[in-house]
Amino acid sequence: MGLDEDALEYHRIDPPGKLEISTTKPTNTQRDLSLAYSPGVAAPCLEIDEDESEAFQYTAKGNLVGVLSNGSAVLGLGDIGAQASKPVMEGKGVLFKRFADIDVFDIELDDADPEKIIEAAKMMEPTFGGINLEDIKAPGCFVIEERLREEMDIPVFHDDQHGTAIISGAALLNAADIADKEIEDMKIVFSGAGASALATAKFYVSLGAKPENIVMCDSSGIITEARATADDINEYKREFARDVPEGDLSDAMEGADAFVGLSVADIVSQDMVRSMAEDPIIFAMANPDPEIGYAEAKEARDDTVIMATGRSDYPNQVNNVLGFPFIFRGALDVRATEINEDMKVAAAEALADLARQDVPDAVVKAYGDDPIQYGSEYIIPKPVDPRVLFRIAPAVAEAAIESGAARTEIDIDEYEEQLEA
Ligand code: NAP
Ligand code: MG
Repeated sequence: MGLDEDALEYHRIDPPGKLEISTTKPTNTQRDLSLAYSPGVAAPCLEIDEDESEAFQYTAKGNLVGVLSNGSAVLGLGDIGAQASKPVMEGKGVLFKRFADIDVFDIELDDADPEKIIEAAKMMEPTFGGINLEDIKAPGCFVIEERLREEMDIPVFHDDQHGTAIISGAALLNAADIADKEIEDMKIVFSGAGASALATAKFYVSLGAKPENIVMCDSSGIITEARATADDINEYKREFARDVPEGDLSDAMEGADAFVGLSVADIVSQDMVRSMAEDPIIFAMANPDPEIGYAEAKEARDDTVIMATGRSDYPNQVNNVLGFPFIFRGALDVRATEINEDMKVAAAEALADLARQDVPDAVVKAYGDDPIQYGSEYIIPKPVDPRVLFRIAPAVAEAAIESGAARTEIDIDEYEEQLEA
């Protein structure tokens, strides 16, 4: 059977879907039931009525994330709507559970209007410890996330923006190290100026890149000040408008140290790769097919091309699953009010640092028996590496405490030991 038939069968097997609710306390006796529900349940209600933070003590809120979408930008499928997006949101729930033991309610909202999504999400604040916005199209996703971050007291994180930014940011830290380049001196060219590209460019600035060294291209070419004044671009792109002559991606790539593709397949040629600076960094992350193929980019030059893609069949896969489960784990475990820039930078630095360490045998075996060692073919950890949980979550929790986003303080060393156990 092909992958499609297998996937349909996988989802259809009884019970349909891939998630269910289970109980965590005894429910065998009449007494158990009167504790779980009426009349006993009134006691925790009253405690929470007195002090809302007691919800973390008496309900599942602190380990529950809402994966919320309107299905307007689903994977490579586009605007397929809320109902059709449900398998993806349930799938995200599977990943949260599998990698970080976080429970998820998937919430598919049937509306395109950002204001309505904002209103709905805000009303659900009592339910969740955090909200993962998913597959909502730009520029609506920017408005929704900005407003919810301001108006809600739990972490709100649009994974399509920041997941990509953080994982590829970790890759950038290590690529810079291997290519012996300073991030602050790098000329970085983006192909794509959508949800993921804009967030990634901003995050690279947090990692030290100079805004004036970043040039961004959308489907009409370089985003220039001339285009910004002519008013043909949205305010989010305008932030990256540069005072350079109009041109296309091939003009932008000349002499660039790094190329970051978050656009569409096959728009970068070998000649464009050859026009880049020495030991170029190429993150071609369009899915499922990158802006240029792995082998094609590598073969274009004799010096070291440090290449990453979104694909699992080549080295250096930028896979969001390296981020969101552990970022939320760390945030939830200190009851964070947000996932702020310091927490994101801490996650990227911890991932980059982990890739520099020796890889356990079990991880090597999971990927065939070839040695895995820090270098141009291994700049980010592998998704199955169990150490990702107990390195990233504590780094995020610690950054939350230090930046004032945590509602409870924990001992980070003890926390790391608990996660390892
Ligand atoms: P998006 O918001 O729809 O943005 C797509 C961007 O690509 C837009 O700015 C669009 O330009 C631009 N574009 C389209 N055709 C182009 C062309 N021929 N040349 C240059 N730019 C072009 O989508 P997104 O969510 O950011 O995702 C973009 C891509 O990145 C997708 O392929 C997605 O699968 C991939 N992605 C990968 C990862 C990963 O590997 N971990 C994570 C996130 C996204 P206009 O603005 O002019 O329309
Ligand atoms: Mg997504």
